[in-house]
Amino acid sequence: MQATTQLIHSIPVDPLTGAISVPIYQTSTFVQDAPGVNKGYDYARSGNPTRATLESLVAQLEGGSTGVAFASGLAAIDAVIKLLQSGDEIIAVDDIYGGAFRLFEQVYRKFGITVNYVDTTNLETVFNALTPKTKLIWIETPTNPTLKITDIQGIAKIAKAHGCLLCVDNTFASPALQKPLSLGADLVIHSGTKYLGGHSDLIAGVVVAADPELGQKIKFLQNASGAILGPFDSWLLIRGIETLHLRIRQHCASAQAIAAFLEHHPAVDKVFYPGLATHPGHSIAAKQAKGFGGIVSFTLKNDTQAAATAFVTSTGLFKLAESLGGIKSLVSHPATMTHKSIPEEKRKSAGVSDSLIRLSAGLEDTEDLLDDLRQALDGLVKFNNSAVPAIAETEKAY
Ligand SMILES: *Cc1c(COP(=O)(O)O)cnc(C)c1O
Repeated sequence: MQATTQLIHSIPVDPLTGAISVPIYQTSTFVQDAPGVNKGYDYARSGNPTRATLESLVAQLEGGSTGVAFASGLAAIDAVIKLLQSGDEIIAVDDIYGGAFRLFEQVYRKFGITVNYVDTTNLETVFNALTPKTKLIWIETPTNPTLKITDIQGIAKIAKAHGCLLCVDNTFASPALQKPLSLGADLVIHSGTKYLGGHSDLIAGVVVAADPELGQKIKFLQNASGAILGPFDSWLLIRGIETLHLRIRQHCASAQAIAAFLEHHPAVDKVFYPGLATHPGHSIAAKQAKGFGGIVSFTLKNDTQAAATAFVTSTGLFKLAESLGGIKSLVSHPATMTHKSIPEEKRKSAGVSDSLIRLSAGLEDTEDLLDDLRQALDGLVKFNNSAVPAIAETEKAY
């Protein structure tokens, strides 16, 4: 049986009523027959049947032993970092998600957990960064927003030899394209807010562990710290996952067409998309993933924030917003939005230049998306720097 068929039918029909959709158990507690004698649930922070269905679904989707659902992607990341203790070190991908950078630097550093950010596309660099205190390697592939590709299997070998954990933030690829646990990673996290949910209508996160013992440690932290996903959002996430494979196929097809179009437009400088043969990570991406994803980034020949502002305010179908992976196409300007909390020098050295624009291809017709980009880029050719208002500064890194 194919994975998509298996996935759809692994969501159980309700044994009590025959309901074909998973019931939403909107309850805080469960009545017990005698102290400690119950039907598998006692208090809804510790366990909820709707959440449990989601958790086993994501475990199956990623090929892991244990799935654990959280109130956001950042809460999922937070749970993984809580496996560590003071004095431990993390090696992390250098163009890491801005919110993870803020969590590492402004929360965990003061508890004595330090992070060394390196170019994880180079295995030797990662190997050389190891110290006896390295307990965790943290990668994203593709990265946000320059879509750098890291060899998951190569990093997994380094982690295993060193006796440290490898966690992959698989948000950008989604398990429809890439399964890091099958390539040797110990943990996978997701912002379920993005492709898993797929409809821009919830905030959620998941952790999936390969090893059941490690999975139980994450489950313990979920209950101990309490950042659980509620039953309604668990249901929404299940509903999103049901169409994941179908959606991802269309996201990928549009993104590939957009990347090819941008490469030949005179206002565009560089295009970042792992599906382009010219992308430095193309062959590794082709080897470890079934597709290249729905995100395309590019820079403008006029490499200024003002030119980028002119572009992101002149698209019609591509809505200017944080986030990605939903049915509506989105455009964002990382330098002033998602990557605002990363110091300018670090941001630029990670390839996030002033004019870098990130697109999330939605589920609209591909030709309509190309038309929208064409009119916005053609407008730029006549662009005059001084006519454009600055993007309002925001303090948050979403
Ligand atoms: C959005 C995102 C997160 C954080 O997820 P939230 O659900 O917003 O907390 C983490 N990693 C990546 C790659 C993301 O895109």
